[in-house]
Amino acid sequence: MGLFEGKRGMIFGIANKSSIAWGIAQALAAEGAELGFSYAGEVLQKRVEPLAESLGVQFVEECDVTNEDAIDSLFAKVGAHFGTLDFLVHSIAYAPREDLGGRFVNTSRDGFRVALDVSCYSLVALAKRAYPLMPNGGAMLAMTYYGAEKVTPNYNVMGVAKAALEATVRYLAWDLGQNEIRVNAISAGPIKTLASSGVSGFRKSLSYVGSVAPMGNVDQEDIGDAARYLLSDWSRKVTGEVLYVDGGFNIMGAPDPSGEEKEAQSA
Ligand code: NAD
Repeated sequence: MGLFEGKRGMIFGIANKSSIAWGIAQALAAEGAELGFSYAGEVLQKRVEPLAESLGVQFVEECDVTNEDAIDSLFAKVGAHFGTLDFLVHSIAYAPREDLGGRFVNTSRDGFRVALDVSCYSLVALAKRAYPLMPNGGAMLAMTYYGAEKVTPNYNVMGVAKAALEATVRYLAWDLGQNEIRVNAISAGPIKTLASSGVSGFRKSLSYVGSVAPMGNVDQEDIGDAARYLLSDWSRKVTGEVLYVDGGFNIMGAPDPSGEEKEAQSA
């Protein structure tokens, strides 16, 4: 019997087959989870529907997480379809492209507002509607990045949004603990996706992280497997945490000089 047999959950943030949320969906479906998908807009429908079909997912609905009415109407449908939920995955982020590069000091007020609204407040907005559907407790999971803690040039306002998201995870974990609901985040190493491609110099930072991290770069499957842990009873008393799934990049203080020597020798 699969780990998620009899469990139901909503996944937010699948844009295409490169999305981290798609890796998580596959990992959970393989363990028997009953899933619902929500995507950002009409443009993505033709990408998300075939993916849903390939996993036998029947509930697929559009929802712009900046729109309160849209979230209300989505959750009315979620309630009608599933009755109750056991988990929710928030894998959503957005900032205007011009704020994901160049000097941080030039971040626009509007760019800041939008980044924090879409990438951080949306977790509160979804949690507010999801927790009443979890009368038997549950688990929520958000996706973050190391740029929340340490400066990652060009990540800029998204680093600020992720810092706020990580704090939001802790406050939600405290508040929803009384409902037996756990809230955690995965801090994923860089993976090439639609969102990450919007950050200037992403390819360079992907190859840098891959060369510094003890276990190299990560992929969607690595994140999916960690999500199984954080969304299942295997982590039943773990809440408010940020779990690094980054090949160990965050423990390093400097790149291994022997790596450079080896590279120089092989050149
Ligand atoms: P992605 O582009 O596949 O996913 C981002 C999703 O956010 C998309 O599905 C997009 O439609 C959705 N979204 C944006 N605005 C929205 C809105 N207003 N309403 C509803 N949905 C909206 O890219 P991804 O890399 O899979 O990103 C998923 C999460 O993982 C994000 O939180 C991202 O910051 C985080 N993350 C990514 C990386 C990486 O390197 N790719 C690393 C660490 C964390």
